[in-house]
Amino acid sequence: MQRESWDVIIVGGGSAGLSAALMLVRARRRVLVLDGGAPRNGVAAHMHGVLGRDGWSPLELLERGREEVARYGGVVRTAEVATAEAYTADSNGGPGFTVTLASGERHAARRLLVATGLRDELPELPGLAEQWGTGAVVCPYCDGWEVRDRRIGVLATGPRSLHQVQLLRQWSPSVTFFTNGAELDGDDSAGLLARGIAVERRAWASVTADETGRLSGIRLADDAVIALDAIFLGPRPVPNDALLTGLGASTAPGFVDDAWVDVDATGRTSVPGVWAAGNVVNPAATVPLSAGAGNLAGAAINADLIEEEIRAALAG
Ligand SMILES: Cc1cc2nc3c(=O)[nH]c(=O)nc-3n(C[C@H](O)[C@H](O)[C@H](O)COP(=O)(O)OP(=O)(O)OC[C@H]3O[C@@H](n4cnc5c(N)ncnc54)[C@H](O)[C@@H]3O)c2cc1C
Repeated sequence: MQRESWDVIIVGGGSAGLSAALMLVRARRRVLVLDGGAPRNGVAAHMHGVLGRDGWSPLELLERGREEVARYGGVVRTAEVATAEAYTADSNGGPGFTVTLASGERHAARRLLVATGLRDELPELPGLAEQWGTGAVVCPYCDGWEVRDRRIGVLATGPRSLHQVQLLRQWSPSVTFFTNGAELDGDDSAGLLARGIAVERRAWASVTADETGRLSGIRLADDAVIALDAIFLGPRPVPNDALLTGLGASTAPGFVDDAWVDVDATGRTSVPGVWAAGNVVNPAATVPLSAGAGNLAGAAINADLIEEEIRAALAG
């Protein structure tokens, strides 16, 4: 294997990874994007709140991004990266990285950007997984408009659910909060009541669908069915950060309770030469925010390479 045949390897070709790639290939860097082909919003037919691309298919956006990167000489491949290792480059003493694909194939680069996104861990509720991305969704700004004035259910999945249910009242007067048997404190109940939000305390049993598979409601433990047009919930976001933690990237408490890999404003991790962008380090990043983080990380990586090249030039 030839070492450092690439300036930058980007693991993950969603909006964060491809946006970084576009910056780097336009800066004439040799870039390899390795992408598993399963973007988080690939389950959704349309995406919203994306200026200039509102209502596009998420997969169509990424296909267009792949073409744009390839147009400048970037290589985008569908492949799963299994491991990443750091070493010190013989040529200049700078950082170098080897990634190994699930197939065993290996590639090396001077810098590494991890943009592998996150997994949405759904609560145990029969029928919910089948609706994920269509009848059951996470983001009011992404999908609220499409169900405005319709019957919306919000599942109490964690402390942020109260905020989510109050938020959804902005889109519809018909909102029900499903607590699955949990009691609410007095102030929270009063806040919901004051805004006309119904509270359903009975335990939930399953999500129901009509004969076409379209969401129809929630069946409760006593067999009652509450008819709904949409369910919103906050799944537990689990970052796909094994490559980063495997390289020793430091973590900090994040947006949710667990430790998330810590990055500076440009996406630089604590490991020299390793950047991260998008949902893998920021669960709140939408498509535009992930693309923005990738854009900035791409420029920062190029600047870091230039610093290395100045040192090499000075050393003769
Ligand atoms: C149902 C749903 C609807 C949404 N709708 C919207 C919307 O309307 N508007 C909006 O702005 N946002 C929306 N989002 C959020 C959006 O999905 C994220 O903001 C966006 O996908 C984050 O981009 P990313 O590049 O960080 O990660 P992703 O888009 O998830 O891309 C990560 C990529 O990395 C790859 N990968 C992971 N591990 C590896 C590995 N080891 N090797 C190689 N490749 C790997 C994956 O296969 C994937 O292709 C929605 C989310 C969900 C769940």
